Amino acid sequence: MDPTSPTAAGRWARPAFWIALYLALIALPLLVLLLGDRPGGGGFAWDFALIVGYAALAMMGVQFALTARFKRATAPFGIDVIYYFHRYLAVVAFALLVLHVVVLLVTRPEAVGSVDPRVAPGYMSLGWLALLAFVAIVLSSLLRKTLGLGYDAWRRVHTVLAVLGVLFALLHVLGSGSYLVTPAKRAFWIALALSWVLLAIHVRLFRPLWLRRHPWRVAEVREERGRSWTVAVEPAHGHRFDYQPGQFAWVTLRASPFAMREHPFSISSSPTRPGRLEFTIKALGDFTATIGGIRPGETAWVDGPYGTFGTDHHPEARGYVFIAGGVGIAPIISMLRACADRGETRPLWLFYGNRRWDRVVFREELDALAGRLDLRIVHVLGDPPDGWEGERGYIDRAVLERHLPARGEELHHFVCGPQPMIQLAERSLRALDVPASRVHSEIFDLA
Ligand SMILES: Cc1cc2nc3c(=O)[nH]c(=O)nc-3n(C[C@H](O)[C@H](O)[C@H](O)COP(=O)(O)OP(=O)(O)OC[C@H]3O[C@@H](n4cnc5c(N)ncnc54)[C@H](O)[C@@H]3O)c2cc1C
Repeated sequence: MDPTSPTAAGRWARPAFWIALYLALIALPLLVLLLGDRPGGGGFAWDFALIVGYAALAMMGVQFALTARFKRATAPFGIDVIYYFHRYLAVVAFALLVLHVVVLLVTRPEAVGSVDPRVAPGYMSLGWLALLAFVAIVLSSLLRKTLGLGYDAWRRVHTVLAVLGVLFALLHVLGSGSYLVTPAKRAFWIALALSWVLLAIHVRLFRPLWLRRHPWRVAEVREERGRSWTVAVEPAHGHRFDYQPGQFAWVTLRASPFAMREHPFSISSSPTRPGRLEFTIKALGDFTATIGGIRPGETAWVDGPYGTFGTDHHPEARGYVFIAGGVGIAPIISMLRACADRGETRPLWLFYGNRRWDRVVFREELDALAGRLDLRIVHVLGDPPDGWEGERGYIDRAVLERHLPARGEELHHFVCGPQPMIQLAERSLRALDVPASRVHSEIFDLA
C-alpha cells in the first residue's frame, strides 16, 4: 500500500478488520470451550489433542464463509486471494485434524478404540467418516488436475463432502462430550455448525433462487480473433446491474442457476454504457469451447459483480499501465473503454502480448481508443509476421523499460493473462522498483 496515499490508513483498516474477524471466528468457539465447567484430569496430551481437533473443526467451518462470495469481505483482498487462502487454510485445518487423531492414537489408544463400526460407538465411527470426508476433499482438490477430474463434477462433490464432513464432525464431538459438558456449550457449537451449513445453503440455494428471479437474455454473440467470442447479455426484466470496469461475474449459460455450472468471466463492456453486459471468452476447455454455439435469445444467469481489479480503486494514480496476455485483455478493454467515455486525460500504456498478429483481440478498437486517449500501445508478439518491427518475445523487464518513463513506479499497473505471463510481468516490475502496492493482478484460475 502506498503510505503517501490519503486513503492508505482506510485501506489497511478494512483488510485488518476482516482478518481480525476471521481469527475471532476461530478463537471464540475455542474460548467458549474453556469458559466455566471444564473436564479435568485428561493430561496435557489429551487436552492438546482435543483443542487441536476443535480448532480444526472451527477452521473447516469458516471455510464456508470464505467461499460464500460476501462482497464486502472479499473486496479488500480480491476474490482470487480469498480462494487461495481458502485452499491453504484447508490444508492447515486438515493438518490439525490429523494431529488430533495421531496424538490420541499415540497417547490414548484405549480412548480411540476400534475403527470397526460394528464395535465402535456411533460417535467414533462418525469421527472416522468425517476424517475420510476431509481426506477426500483435500486430495481431490490438490490433485484435481492430475487426477483429470472435471471442474464442475469436482465442485459438486466438494460441496457435498464439506457439508457431510462438518456434520459428521459435529455429531462426533457432541457424542464424545469432551469439553461440551454444559447444555449452553453444546447449544453454542450446534448453532455454530448450523450457521456454517446455512452459509452453504445460502450459496447453493438462496443465491440461485435470487438469480432465477433476475434472468438475462443473450443479445448478441460476436466472433473475435484468437478463438474468442464476445457474448452480450441484457437483463430480461430490465433490472439494474452496477459495476466497475475490470470486475467480473459468475455466468451460467445453458444450465439452471442451481446446476453449479457457473464460470467466472471478466466484464469486457464499460459501465459507462449501461443496460448491456459483454463477456469476451476464449475457447479453451469443455465449457468455453461451446460459446460459439450460444444463440441470441437464450437465457443467461449473472452473479456479480465481483473483484477489485480496476482503476476505480486507485483514482490517485498519475497514470495507468496495463499489461495483458491473450484474453487477459477482457477486463482491461473494459477499463480503457470507461477511460475513453469518461474523458480520461492521464497517460496510459498498454503492453499486449499475443502469439500472432492475426490473433490480437480488439486490435482495431484499441487503435481507435488510442486516438481518444493519451494511450501508447505496445504489441509484443511471440511469433511475429515477416517484416514486424515491433516488440517480440515476452513482456519482460527490457520491454517495459524501453517504453515506460523513468519514474514509472508512480503509476498503477494492472496485469492480466496466463499465470506465467503474470509472474514474469510481476518479476519485471519488481526489478524496475515498482512497489508491490502499485501492481494489481487478476488470475484467471481459482482452483
Ligand atoms: C476472475 C476470473 C475472470 C476470468 N475472466 C475470463 C475472461 O474474461 N475470459 C475468458 O476467456 N476466461 C476468463 N476466465 C477463465 C475462465 O473462467 C475459464 O477459462 C473457464 O471457466 C474454463 O472453463 P472450461 O470448462 O472451458 O475449461 P476446462 O478445460 O474445463 O477448465 C480449465 C480450467 O479452468 C478452470 N475452471 C473451469 N471451470 C471453472 C469454473 N466454473 N470456475 C472457475 N474456474 C474454472 C479450472 O482451473 C480448470 O482446470 C476468468 C477466470 C477468473 C477466475
